[in-house]
Amino acid sequence: MVTTRSTTGKTPKKVTQPDFIETVKRRRRTKRESPEEMKPANDEITVVPTNGKGKDAVITSAEDKHAEFDFGGPIGVSCMMVGFPLLMWYLWICTTYYQGHLTVPTNDETMQDFLLRLYGHFLDGAFPDLKSWAIVWGFLIFEGILYVTLPGVWTRGLPLPHLNNERLPYFCNAVWSFYTTIIVAAVLHITGIFPITTLIDKFGSIMSVSIICGLILPFLLYFYAYITKTQYRMSGSFVYDVFMGAVLNPRIGIIDLKMFYEVRLPWFILFLTTVSSAVRQYESYGYVSPQVSFLVLAHWLYANACSKGEELIVTTWDMFYEKFGFMLLFWNMAGVPFTYCHCTLFLANSAPSEYQWSIYYNVFVYFLLIGAYYIFDTTNSQKNRFRQQMYGTLIPRNTFPQLPWQTIKNPTYIKCKNGGTLLTSGWYKYARKIHYTVDFIQSLSWGLITGFASPLPYFYPLFFFCVLSHRAYRDIQRCKIKYSDDWKEYERQCPYLFIPFVF
Ligand code: NDP
Repeated sequence: MVTTRSTTGKTPKKVTQPDFIETVKRRRRTKRESPEEMKPANDEITVVPTNGKGKDAVITSAEDKHAEFDFGGPIGVSCMMVGFPLLMWYLWICTTYYQGHLTVPTNDETMQDFLLRLYGHFLDGAFPDLKSWAIVWGFLIFEGILYVTLPGVWTRGLPLPHLNNERLPYFCNAVWSFYTTIIVAAVLHITGIFPITTLIDKFGSIMSVSIICGLILPFLLYFYAYITKTQYRMSGSFVYDVFMGAVLNPRIGIIDLKMFYEVRLPWFILFLTTVSSAVRQYESYGYVSPQVSFLVLAHWLYANACSKGEELIVTTWDMFYEKFGFMLLFWNMAGVPFTYCHCTLFLANSAPSEYQWSIYYNVFVYFLLIGAYYIFDTTNSQKNRFRQQMYGTLIPRNTFPQLPWQTIKNPTYIKCKNGGTLLTSGWYKYARKIHYTVDFIQSLSWGLITGFASPLPYFYPLFFFCVLSHRAYRDIQRCKIKYSDDWKEYERQCPYLFIPFVF
């Protein structure tokens, strides 16, 4: 059935945005549509039949209040806030100074000697010097400028209970930002203004600056929310609220900080770091090894996927439910780009002769990555596009690559009593969290390409396994409350969780 949004009564309403922080001038409206005018490029969209009442599944009042402590409560999150930065420095020291082996106190070393040894390495290679501050903040400001100046599309988030179920408008142009960033980085490198190899050469210092910012900013945001009275779903525990965040939708003008941190920073930095190591290898050896090329491809795929599907991310849990605190901010600014890259660091610190695998092994890992990526991309697209079809906000885009089966033509779904819908076809029919499984396989392939000499490239898959298991558990608990009996019916129709026909 082809129809326009106006005929379905789904034309978005003007929204109120009390959380906007108007510190940046309002965006010029030339060339781009305002959120009020936003519409798909071809003015018509395919809307699958809804429950006929035009209702949306909203967050219930039970979900919208702080219910219980997660992550081990205040003590658990305190440990994480102290432990994550220390762990990141420790892993960096191991990969940089100990060929990727975990360093421990030697027999004739006291614990104090051992810590002093680590501290010496920190001062030697990870001291946050002025140049690193300039690189990190130069990059942040540059990406911010791209956000407000490049063309993009508008879409809307999910209904927010504390805004009377209004949907915030989101401006999405990460894909343009990504390719503009690549072009500018290439020009800066070729002209010698900023050789891209600086990123790998100064990795430790840049990481330290990102860690320090990732630690301080959540506290500032907490106090900002307190002063402006924009706290939301608070637990009452200071440290827990700094960790989980106090504010739900922090914005600077049109820049949605959660989208900015989640889509652009981690994956752009990761990709540029890997490119940096590829260029360094080319300069040193005159070629780029298949393993380093693999990582450039893998990190490009991930950064590109997040960018090209940016408008689909606005309906995800992180955007409409999670607040912006240490968990999202630190992890996206420091954790993701500077721990997921241990595969890159290991290869950057090794001569290509030290990691030469058979052609069959290399081909196997390439296929593993590409196969997993295909399912990852299409599963996320299927659900997000289905959701946006139901909301009447699907925006047809031609961002590369558009893969077969990204959109399900005639999806089957459950009409839920709360007004929502649950997709029961596409990849979901085979496993409800198959996108978690294949995302994990992607992370595993990043480690496999480096071989087995060091455990550090496997830090990401191991950590990610824990993240995804915990995330799946939290999500299922939340959905059980939200969808009640409909969730049971969904589990009956789509019985497998992670692996089709097995688990
Ligand atoms: P999901 O994409 O599974 O989103 C879960 C939500 O989707 C549910 O809360 C529910 O929300 C909705 N939903 C669940 N089942 C259905 C269905 N059958 N039909 C329609 N809607 C449904 O999880 P995430 O947002 O956690 O992850 C998205 C992707 O991001 C994954 O591929 C994951 O691997 C990846 N990811 C990567 C990370 C990384 O660091 N590399 C970190 C986190 C995620 P609703 O309330 O709307 O019904």
